[in-house]
Amino acid sequence: GLTGNKGWTAHWRDPQPKPEYDIVIIGGGGHGLSCAHYLAKEHGITNVAVLEKGYLGGGNVGRNTTIVRANYGLSGNSEFYSHSLKLWEGLEQDLNYNVMLSQRGIINLCHSDGQRDAFIRRGNAMVNQGDDAIFLTPDALQKMLPFLDYEQSRFPIFGGLYHPRGGTARHDAVAWGYARGASSRGVDLIQQCEVTGIDVSEGKVTGVQTTRGPIRAKKVAMMGAGRSSQLAEMAGMRLPVESHVLQAFVTEGLKPCIDHVISYGAGHFYISQSDKGGLVFGGDLDMYASYAARGNLPMVEHVAEAGMTLMPMIGKAKMLRSWGGIMDMSSDGSPIIDRTHIDGLHVSCGWCYGGFKAVPAGGHVMAHLLATGQHHPAAAKFRLDRFRSGRGIMDEEATGSQH
Ligand code: FAD
Repeated sequence: GLTGNKGWTAHWRDPQPKPEYDIVIIGGGGHGLSCAHYLAKEHGITNVAVLEKGYLGGGNVGRNTTIVRANYGLSGNSEFYSHSLKLWEGLEQDLNYNVMLSQRGIINLCHSDGQRDAFIRRGNAMVNQGDDAIFLTPDALQKMLPFLDYEQSRFPIFGGLYHPRGGTARHDAVAWGYARGASSRGVDLIQQCEVTGIDVSEGKVTGVQTTRGPIRAKKVAMMGAGRSSQLAEMAGMRLPVESHVLQAFVTEGLKPCIDHVISYGAGHFYISQSDKGGLVFGGDLDMYASYAARGNLPMVEHVAEAGMTLMPMIGKAKMLRSWGGIMDMSSDGSPIIDRTHIDGLHVSCGWCYGGFKAVPAGGHVMAHLLATGQHHPAAAKFRLDRFRSGRGIMDEEATGSQH
């Protein structure tokens, strides 16, 4: 840091787009970059371009609250997120990059008999999946988290579901590490290149139109997260997805005071402390569809109020800033990773507010699908047709404001 950046080398090449690729990935976020990395590393497919309309990592992958966990309850999600957590655990070695994975443990608080039963059921499902879950009684919780307000009468704390292998990771580093991994193996990462059209001829995708000219491709993967519906529209498709803004907040840096990720089961609030010391927290979506990646004051009040109810001590911290990101909310809260009815056109979307923890597996299974034509067993249920067939994956207990 004191060298004035002298002698630093670029992490990835800055190539001109070629006229044709085997595979074009739309979106240089976490999922697009991860997919490119695994295509090259695991399948030896390197004639690939990732097209990003802004800069790499400028989307939600760099805007989230960095929570990583495998504590889903329903089949479909549980095997997928379990696969992802295992990839997280080997990611720094795989990428030779410090993504600052911190398995500090996640505690989801419960506030009623019914919620406690549901959490214990979910904990059993997690253990059956091979992941870790411990139910904490209020006494055990008080020893670990003495600063919570256990006296509050409106939502008394009945216990917590503890997932020790959950935690956080440094979001930008994840994007940069995957970008370097893909670029160094020959994938072209093309920034400032917005896809404006998807070319389809006789039921088959043939390429894309971009602000840097047309690019032909044998296969195209739409991995645009919050912009997924707009991308699909370019191919004449409608996705079961709505885009909403999700905000997050950070305080001034404090000495270490919150050791875990904590989520409130009765209000829209979750919190962790960053390595710089800031308290990072968030809550629920703005409940109207929007493409404006910025916050608004009613949600600031809503989240701060929930936080103060749960842990009044944070009222002393000064909030430094808030920001927003556009979430591609699927109608059952679970993702879609599938082929479309257009030959060669694939989609990965519906990441909702939980797609950061899914970045390793999301890219890994999409690379598998693109390379082999077969669904990876860990993502076999994320089919587009489940919304027509009624086989939704409504994992409500595990989504909500936990992120
Ligand atoms: P992005 O980084 O958004 O990537 C998509 C990319 O596509 C963007 O860079 C965009 O510019 C590009 N693109 C779009 N359209 C085009 C086009 N036409 N041409 C070219 N490029 C295009 N998840 C968790 O697991 N844990 C959390 O704690 C968590 N907290 C969150 C908190 C907030 C405030 C927000 C906003 C999100 C949070 N999420 C969390 C969700 C997570 O960030 C997203 O689900 C995930 O990052 C989405 O996948 P991505 O990284 O590929 O998206």
